[in-house]
Amino acid sequence: MRKNMKPESLMMSYGYRPSLSEGAVKCPIFQTSTFVFDKAEEGKAFFEVAYGLRTPETGEEQGLIYSRLNNPDLEILENRLALWDSAEDCAVFESGMSAITTAFLTFLKPGDLLLYSNPVYGGTDHFIKEMLTKFGIEILPFDSSFDKKAMIEAIEATGKAKRLKMIYLETPANPTNALIDISMCQEVKKHFETEENEILISVDNTYLGPIWQHPLEHGADLVLYSATKYIGGHSDVIAGACLGSSDHMAAIKGTRTFLGNMAGPWTGWLLMRSLETLKLRMEKQQDNAIKVADFFKSHPKIERINYLGHLTEAENPKQYAIYKKQCKGSGAMLSIELKGGEPEAFAFLNNLKLVKLAVSLGSTESLAQHPASMTHAGVPEDDKIKYGIKDNLVRLSVGVEHFEDLINDLQSSLEKV
Ligand SMILES: *Cc1c(COP(=O)(O)O)cnc(C)c1O
Repeated sequence: MRKNMKPESLMMSYGYRPSLSEGAVKCPIFQTSTFVFDKAEEGKAFFEVAYGLRTPETGEEQGLIYSRLNNPDLEILENRLALWDSAEDCAVFESGMSAITTAFLTFLKPGDLLLYSNPVYGGTDHFIKEMLTKFGIEILPFDSSFDKKAMIEAIEATGKAKRLKMIYLETPANPTNALIDISMCQEVKKHFETEENEILISVDNTYLGPIWQHPLEHGADLVLYSATKYIGGHSDVIAGACLGSSDHMAAIKGTRTFLGNMAGPWTGWLLMRSLETLKLRMEKQQDNAIKVADFFKSHPKIERINYLGHLTEAENPKQYAIYKKQCKGSGAMLSIELKGGEPEAFAFLNNLKLVKLAVSLGSTESLAQHPASMTHAGVPEDDKIKYGIKDNLVRLSVGVEHFEDLINDLQSSLEKV
């Protein structure tokens, strides 16, 4: 069934057997901490597999033990999420941050080198700079201006090239939509990888995934999501996910069991419900974003717009080439620079009515915020300038409202600036 159908056709049913739940069409919420074993022998067999004490026999599935290890709402959700990225396996978490930090803690050890793209999400930035360094992990930032040669030289200059363990990327970057070439990072990985030292490429795919970008196809080993954003899509749940090969995910799930940061059954159920409309929502959001971006483009109070759909070969040949190779859509995230500075940006935000003034993204309702003083308030001033996080920059996440109402709201707010 999986092979010849598209993910959106499978989101209502895949991995769920109604006969195991009194015939219920929908997967119930398995609000239980623990599961009854039929016989002591069965409990023993389940634990042997869960703790890797023996390899499972052919056709033997991991039995249900305890909800920190597994739960039907999480397992079915993970199987469905894996379809979008064609991943072998998936693990869901209670937040995007727990997915990201668990991936770091699973594969990095003291003395290892982590190469990471800039800018990254504020929470990720903090964890890398303030926490990983405390555990003796060396860190090296790079950004979308680096080509392969510059990356290799920067790694060699650390004198730690043999300990390069992970290349961590966020592309497109928040809030400017700057793109990083995943397959170029794979070439850098191959340059340094040895028999003894596997190097992993991890991509935070929150900004375009899981519809418009599939990093595994371009050489990534791990895909990470804040499922709070498009996947949840209704601004009512915090969750995260990590996807990759069975081997990598077995390691990730092992760490998750002992950190205890798995999602709960209620979160699992909410996300399964969200997945049924994922594609519909995201496509509608993108349609609206394209119209909103076009509206801004010709507006006299707007100095510049950062939208993937507006990249051109003539103006940005390198970014355009990555976009064409790596992205399947332009998405629903954009940022605009108003003529002026913070006062103009604030006036615009304060006069919006339909569009809500809030952080977060990817939801059914449109949201706007001011990165320099909000999501990116902690970024050092020099980096703000370097990465274009200016005082006149406003970030917009476009929702599913009628586009005429959205544009009317944006228009009348701009008039009051
Ligand atoms: C929101 C976000 C995160 C963090 O996710 P939480 O679910 O809030 O923990 C990580 N990366 C990106 C790109 C995000 O937008």
